[in-house]
Amino acid sequence: MELKNCMESLVWERLDSVLRAYPEMCTCQKCRNDVVALALNALPPRYVVTFAGETYTKVHSLEQQFGIDIVAALTNAIDIVSRKQQHEKK
Ligand SMILES: [Zn+2]
Repeated sequence: MELKNCMESLVWERLDSVLRAYPEMCTCQKCRNDVVALALNALPPRYVVTFAGETYTKVHSLEQQFGIDIVAALTNAIDIVSRKQQHEKK
């Protein structure tokens, strides 16, 4: 049994598909973390207590509810991170 922010899993799941639309965006671990952190700060947290195997139905209904918001938050976060890239580009 654990406490889990479903929104975090959903944002990570969507990250790659949204990043595909931004081929010039750096996808190193740091930039990915920055994007997810920014997106999560813009989204409401959705904590649930999970038991093994029980998570998916909850996550799925949340995805239906927040799918568009998640993509919008990720798009906005990618925009911010790509504009102030905090490390040297290789
Ligand atoms: Zn990077």
